[in-house]
Amino acid sequence: MESKAAADPSAQILEQATHAIVVVDGDDNVALFNTAAEQLWGRSRDAVIGGGISRLLPPLRGGQHPRAPGQSEIDLLVGHNVELPIERPNKTRVWAEISVSRIELSGQLMRLVTARNITLTKMHKSLRYQVLKAMAETESLTGVLDLLCREIQRIAPEISATIVRIDKEDCLHTLSAPDFPPEFPRLIDGTGVGPKTTVQAIAAFRGEPVLIRDIEHETGWTLGQRETLALGYKSCWTVPVKARDVRTIGVLAFYYRTCRLPNRLHAQLAEIAVPLCTLAMERAESRARIHHLAFFDELTDLPNRSLLHVQANQAIALATRDNQQLAVLFVDVDRFKQVNDSLGHPAGDALLRIVATRLREAIREIDILGRYSGDEFVIVLTQCDAVRATDLAGRILSKLSSPCRVGEVTLSPAASIGISLFPDNGCDMETLIHQADMAMYQAKQKGRGRFGFFSGQLNQQAKERLTIETALRDALISNKLKIHYQPQVNIETHQLHGVEALVRWTDADFGKMPPSRFIPLAEESGLISLLSQWVLNEACRQLSEWRRRGLQIPSISVNLSPTDFHNLKLPQYLETVLSSHGLRPSDLLVEITEGVLMDSNPSTMRTLQDIHALGVRLSIDDFGTGYSSLGYLRQMPVNELKLDQSFVRDLECDRSTRALTNAVMHIGDSMELTVVAEGVEHPMQRNLLKAQGYQIIQGFLFSPPLPPTALERWLDENLSFTQWE
Ligand code: C2E
Ligand code: MG
Ligand code: MG
Repeated sequence: MESKAAADPSAQILEQATHAIVVVDGDDNVALFNTAAEQLWGRSRDAVIGGGISRLLPPLRGGQHPRAPGQSEIDLLVGHNVELPIERPNKTRVWAEISVSRIELSGQLMRLVTARNITLTKMHKSLRYQVLKAMAETESLTGVLDLLCREIQRIAPEISATIVRIDKEDCLHTLSAPDFPPEFPRLIDGTGVGPKTTVQAIAAFRGEPVLIRDIEHETGWTLGQRETLALGYKSCWTVPVKARDVRTIGVLAFYYRTCRLPNRLHAQLAEIAVPLCTLAMERAESRARIHHLAFFDELTDLPNRSLLHVQANQAIALATRDNQQLAVLFVDVDRFKQVNDSLGHPAGDALLRIVATRLREAIREIDILGRYSGDEFVIVLTQCDAVRATDLAGRILSKLSSPCRVGEVTLSPAASIGISLFPDNGCDMETLIHQADMAMYQAKQKGRGRFGFFSGQLNQQAKERLTIETALRDALISNKLKIHYQPQVNIETHQLHGVEALVRWTDADFGKMPPSRFIPLAEESGLISLLSQWVLNEACRQLSEWRRRGLQIPSISVNLSPTDFHNLKLPQYLETVLSSHGLRPSDLLVEITEGVLMDSNPSTMRTLQDIHALGVRLSIDDFGTGYSSLGYLRQMPVNELKLDQSFVRDLECDRSTRALTNAVMHIGDSMELTVVAEGVEHPMQRNLLKAQGYQIIQGFLFSPPLPPTALERWLDENLSFTQWE
């Protein structure tokens, strides 16, 4: 053959070809077998030539290509390009791409078989394709890895493959072990990464492959050794699966039923499989993360609104089935906005996390808790009636209120809770939450840190409130509000001290709405800052107009709400409004309630000081009804006190009230503050106040609040002011 090959160039070509070439004669026997074929089949040509071709190929499935009578097996492959496994005499297996064509040699019909070793590409392609396809079809992680293990086992049947995952706590969890009975995962799951536990744990611990050639005589392994042997495995090879950030996130293991080392094919299989494991596991991790982000609140790690609804609806379905009650609690953190505004958002976030933790601790395992939005949380108490809900709501409030550090300060968190009951108040989650929200609102109205139940009456009130709110917004936007002015008279000098601006609203449907009704609504709905700005601007415009027309009005007092002082831009606004109307800061007084002084919000203090620094005076309205300490008063940049009208009302018949009004006068005097008595209706009240040293009086005795033109008339008629005596 050699000499022939040397002489015949075509024989030389045949010998040097990289493709395996086999010629099969008419009797299906091998007639020619080149060097590449020897390498591919692992057989020498001497052993093959003259023998049947069927020995070199796996049994071909006739089903796919039915054989015609007289047609031999090799003929089935003619015209096809097939990938077939080839068993070598040394028991290894390779994959070959084989094509067969008919040829004629010296008038004889032969078959030319060309073959190429495609083991590696085949493995690569097949594994990658199948795994990626499964991932694209959104198979579960275990589904994808099962497929990978089965493919490995198909390519190398001597392997039993397993894949475990290592969680953040360094614990092992079996993801795939298709050849193993269920005891196997039970053996491994939950064990921790370490130097001497399971083979997987050891590989993860070392961060490198671990080979155990003889399990029976291995000494470094303690957990599952006996059980693995009992399953018939004698050796194993484990390879860590690493994430792109080099964390070990899993372990791929090949178990063998003989004491052996992995061969080249096994190493190649591991080389292909490990990155696929990484990909599948990382993808599962990021899917889990996305899922978490979609259904859990990032700040508190509680279920978000979507998940809450799902869980709550399940709870409702269960309660319906079991004929049980449940309670929905709407929890709203008290004064959260102030913490956020004054201490900053990180502090607000910290407070929310504390509240979330405390709420979680206060409820039972079977209850549901979620963050609804901002500072609102919803709790669903399962198997719970009104009595239990009362008990739990009380416990939650007391648990919430223990002091905690938030940034630099110590706070006592508080919340208001509204409760609705299933099935009494509603049968679906939307309704129950809505009603609990209304009940919460009502509870907050009564003072903070309380809870209350929903009632039908509440529903009616809420609807009414909403209608009024909408009408007020409309009135504000379309400039339908008015201001009345009430004079304040100096009964010593007989001069006008100033006027107080009081907002008025008459609605086409509701008629005259008293400020005591719509101001709190404006505060709750957030309309108040718009309303305050409107009043400030309109009052300044009016004063400026009066001044232009020569009316002597010393100053104007405007009432502002506590929330107005959370706005650090308020002083700037005042400055702009005053200058745009050509007024000086001393022309304006801002009336605040004692609540503003008590406000722990640091932005309130800043705003008050900035307003004072501007030269705008500050007056404390309704003085004596709040809880402000005199200490506070001393620290505040206050210029005026307004004795609350309730004291004035009781003056004549109550001695202790007289003692109090006297005390207020002395406080004002000693702190050099102007003191105004408001709500003075009768001459007797005026006389008593005058005797105590009060000089500035405001009340129906002189005039009710009047529209601008009526005030002008009033001033005109009372120019002499003699009747004020
Ligand atoms: P306030 O600032 O203490 O105003 C005094 C209230 O007493 C006014 O009620 C006034 O009409 C009333 N009044 C005056 N003299 C007498 C009297 O001799 N006897 C009696 N019984 N009442 C008298 P009004 O206008 O209904 O306002 C009620 C409250 O609404 C005000 O109390 C103030 O806190 C608030 N308010 C009024 N206008 C505004 C405003 O523009 N902005 C804000 N934020 N609050 C306002
Ligand atoms: Mg006032
Ligand atoms: Mg008042």
